[in-house]
Amino acid sequence: MTPVDTNLPYSSAKQPKLFSPRAIVTTVVVAMSACVLGLLVWKAIEGRAAALAQGERDIHNLTHSLAEHASHSIQAIDVAMGAMVDLLKYQKPRVDRFNAALRKTADALPQIGEIGVIGPDGARVYSSAAELPAHNNADRSYFIAHRDSTDPALHISEPLESRLTGRPTIVLSRRITKEDGSFGGILFATIESRYFDNFYQAFRFGPHAGITLLRLDGIVLAHWPSGKWNKEVSAAFKTRIEQDRTGYTKTTSPFDGRIKYLGFERASQYPIVVTVALPEAEVLAAWHEDLRNDLLVALVLMGIVVLFAVLLAREFGKRTRVGLMLREREARYRLLADNIADVVILLDRNGHFLFVSQSVETILGRKADDLIGKSCFAFVHPDNLADVAKATSELTDWTITKTVEFRTHRADGSEVWVEINFKLAGAADDHRGIEVVGVLRDVTERRKMEDELNALNVRLAALATTDGLTGLANRRSFDVALPREFRDREHISLIMLDIDHFKGFNDSLGHQAGDECLRRVANVIADATDKTTALAARYGGEEFAIILPSVGEQDALKVAEAIRLMVRALAIANPAARRGVVSISVGIASRSAATVDESELLRRADLALYEAKHSGRDRTVLASSLSGDSHSAGRKQYA
Ligand code: GH3
Ligand code: MG
Ligand code: MG
Repeated sequence: MTPVDTNLPYSSAKQPKLFSPRAIVTTVVVAMSACVLGLLVWKAIEGRAAALAQGERDIHNLTHSLAEHASHSIQAIDVAMGAMVDLLKYQKPRVDRFNAALRKTADALPQIGEIGVIGPDGARVYSSAAELPAHNNADRSYFIAHRDSTDPALHISEPLESRLTGRPTIVLSRRITKEDGSFGGILFATIESRYFDNFYQAFRFGPHAGITLLRLDGIVLAHWPSGKWNKEVSAAFKTRIEQDRTGYTKTTSPFDGRIKYLGFERASQYPIVVTVALPEAEVLAAWHEDLRNDLLVALVLMGIVVLFAVLLAREFGKRTRVGLMLREREARYRLLADNIADVVILLDRNGHFLFVSQSVETILGRKADDLIGKSCFAFVHPDNLADVAKATSELTDWTITKTVEFRTHRADGSEVWVEINFKLAGAADDHRGIEVVGVLRDVTERRKMEDELNALNVRLAALATTDGLTGLANRRSFDVALPREFRDREHISLIMLDIDHFKGFNDSLGHQAGDECLRRVANVIADATDKTTALAARYGGEEFAIILPSVGEQDALKVAEAIRLMVRALAIANPAARRGVVSISVGIASRSAATVDESELLRRADLALYEAKHSGRDRTVLASSLSGDSHSAGRKQYA
């Protein structure tokens, strides 16, 4: 016995693990995550650059507007003061009138705190204030600057604490030069720092934004929101604003030490500069918001990806397990199919082979693979084709099983009987039945044995009804036939015949010669009755009986006489016989209306035979001729 390979051809150990479900899912998750992250990073970088560029544009626009605003605020005062300085050069207007004119100017220009004139001694001469302030301003830097210089240009002071209000104030002033060139005092206007503060506040920046109004020499005129005025900026920045009219930079704030994006622009007509500083967080606030949203979307996307991956992995795992199970099951079935002597076949609905087990090679000498796709009917002997087709057509239900035997030929041309047992393939819940599953086996030997058995049975049957020595029907056949024929025939004759002095024949020539003699006599009887409806039987010993259905007495007599003469003509030597040759005595009885039954017919034939013996042998006697016979017609003997 060959050892069974327990290592199944499809076992998991031999499966190539090139693309394990886990690896595929991991790859997909990593790839998709990389895509999402890549997109996120790309968008963040792009967005940051765009946000910074937008921030720069916004700061530029703002500094420009604020510089314009500062310039216009000062210019309006400058223009108003220009006309007054000219007037004061030549005239000394009346106090009440000029004060009223100053008040009108102060009312028209809301940035003005006080507008007035200080005389060469530092005391107020005119003022828009309700009451003329009493204090002397001769010590003020702007006063000293004008007194000592004939420069007619507008002077912008550093922030000062107003002696009138006590609040930080910028003083705009012009020198009044008398006709003779002497110092005639100054015309001034104050702008409170809070004027700018209030204006800058309206922009509603975040907490760390800053707007600064600077003098070109670096002195801070106003700063929102901290109000740290009168501070000086760094020397580097001072140089920068002196060189460039406008600029943009990333710097550390001197006010709160934070890193900020800072834009500056110099006013078009005055030596003042406006800076706008926004902390990075504020410039990138929208970008941060976008980033947060993007991160959220990315997280959701990743979550979905991971969820899909988990589901996919689970599904993959399930499929792998089922696939493995199916493969192992198939391998087992295959093992089974390949190792049983019978051939397992699977046919499609048109009778084409879908599967044939390996054992077909043993039975038909054909390779299983060579049969796949071929029609099974091509292998059926034409004589059996109808049987097979009929059995196939009767497979209407998957529960029906059919068995049919047919001849087919092996690859070497020899004929072989096979038996196929087949049914529609399918389970209880699957009624499609599109395939036929069959088991095929070689029944040549069985058929041979069956044929032999049949022949044997025929022979046995013949033996049961035939006499072994002579070949004629035996006594049993006779006993069965006589009542039947007597019943069925209106006319029937019975011949009984016996070999004369046969005991003597045996005694002198031996038993074997006796048997041979019996055979030869039987041959004569057989020849005479052959091809007729007569039944010739060996009645017992050397006695024979012939039933002649539908034959009358005279015809029976002819038959009997023919046989008797032929036996005599054989001229078999019999030393015990009177004439020296074998002879027979014959008795005939024919049915008449008075014959009650077959026994009577037999008895009368026997009596006729007895009479033939008694009256000298080698002759034929009709029962009807016997004196005691009810059908007697006078004694008649034939010799
Ligand atoms: P008869 O003329 O009155 O008929 O005399 P017979 O000797 O023929 O009659 P009998 O009944 O006395 O003898 C029949 C003999 O036939 C006896 C037996 O030895 C012989 N015999 C019977 N059956 C067979 C047989 O099958 N073979 C041989 N050789 N002899 C047989
Ligand atoms: Mg006898
Ligand atoms: Mg005899």
